Amino acid sequence: MIRTARSGRVRTRIAIAVALAAAITATSTGCSSSTKASSKPTASRPTAAATDTLFRGLTEDVARANRSAFLAKFTGSAKVSATRWWQNMAALGFSNGVFYPDSAISAHVPLNSAGNGTVRVWAGTHDTLDPVDPDSGKVYVPLTSYQLTVHQDSESGPVAITGWKPLMNAPWDLSALYVAKRAHVKIAAYPDERHLADSVAADAEKAAEYDLRMFKKFDSYDVQQAGFVMFVSNNSTRRASWFRTGPQPKGWVADPAGYAKPLPGNPGTLVSGVTTNGIGGARVVFHSQRSSHENTAVLVHEFVHTIFARDTIWSYTDDKPAPAWTAEGVARFVEAFYRNNPDPDADNMAFNFNEMRKNPLRSRFAGRPPTDAQLYNGSGAEGSFWYDVAGSVYGYLAETYSISDALYAARIAYTGNSTPFTGVVKSDKGGSMTFYAPAQIQQAWSKWYRQSY
Ligand SMILES: [Zn+2]
Repeated sequence: MIRTARSGRVRTRIAIAVALAAAITATSTGCSSSTKASSKPTASRPTAAATDTLFRGLTEDVARANRSAFLAKFTGSAKVSATRWWQNMAALGFSNGVFYPDSAISAHVPLNSAGNGTVRVWAGTHDTLDPVDPDSGKVYVPLTSYQLTVHQDSESGPVAITGWKPLMNAPWDLSALYVAKRAHVKIAAYPDERHLADSVAADAEKAAEYDLRMFKKFDSYDVQQAGFVMFVSNNSTRRASWFRTGPQPKGWVADPAGYAKPLPGNPGTLVSGVTTNGIGGARVVFHSQRSSHENTAVLVHEFVHTIFARDTIWSYTDDKPAPAWTAEGVARFVEAFYRNNPDPDADNMAFNFNEMRKNPLRSRFAGRPPTDAQLYNGSGAEGSFWYDVAGSVYGYLAETYSISDALYAARIAYTGNSTPFTGVVKSDKGGSMTFYAPAQIQQAWSKWYRQSY
């Protein structure tokens, strides 16, 4: 089914550029004047460095994949870090990117008496599997933040980057990466776990193909990416170190079996060919499960989070994240389809949580979608039950209306309608859409759930 008319209506909301940058401002290094600095002729020292040219140049270097020009702007330990960042991005494979201060004003970096100053920047690349806006052709770039130290000796002298401190601890900042590649997925690991990356690659590719085919068939507008980028480790300490510092999306919780982490996008800086969207994409973190089938089922779930991630546009700037029951519900819904029948082209795609019929927890069902606490704070069995209840909302919508309607309702919820059951289309004629009353849908779902389970 073609969904263009509906999609356009939602997209006008997504186009709002988020002032992510405004929250953080540049800081100077402060009280680090030293005897060494005072021995130099301080009169000629600039008090601020104009870095506009530097960062425009860096963005251009990344966008054009000009490695030598990029690295020439760094010295000392910063060059070592920048080299690793570049090598890892190149190992993953990118076709565009950005590298710029968190606000235009901070391009003017205050310097101390030694000629040093610090500035926070956003940096990232558009992986060849990342989303591309189908209307404008602009690419999504997931970003992570860094604190750089810049140094300038004289007003007319060059500005060099002498310090590089990652603020979000992305795996590409911490070690060299080994990358296993399949047609629709890239699996990165630290070199000592390269065999793990290779061993889950076939399962991951199967999950990627399943989700891409399912979404293309039932909600073609939502899948704007060619695949997924994931980071694997069977070391829980290592996994817990990834993406856990710096800015975090509000309301986001890591699934124990694996998670998809939405990363900020370009908030409005004019970079040619790059979208301005609050979210630039997502990266999946994963560890191997008890079986090959379980690997694929968990990744089917995580990749659904990835597909919807760019719709969580307010998650880094606002206190209204997409409701957890929507995020987990639609991911569990697709996962349940896979577990029932791993063929995405199956004629009869039934939603069936048979195990819920004999689940003693089902007496807790009260006709409402689960709360965040029910989903995330209880025992494993409780969490699993409430994931199923959340998934049943979309199971009900798929059975009663269509799979396309169910996926569309999930996207409406993601893009800011936190009321459950909003976004179920009643009529879509002549460019005008009407929706069912949310209370009516909730009541019908509750009745259906009690009858089915
Ligand atoms: Zn999940």
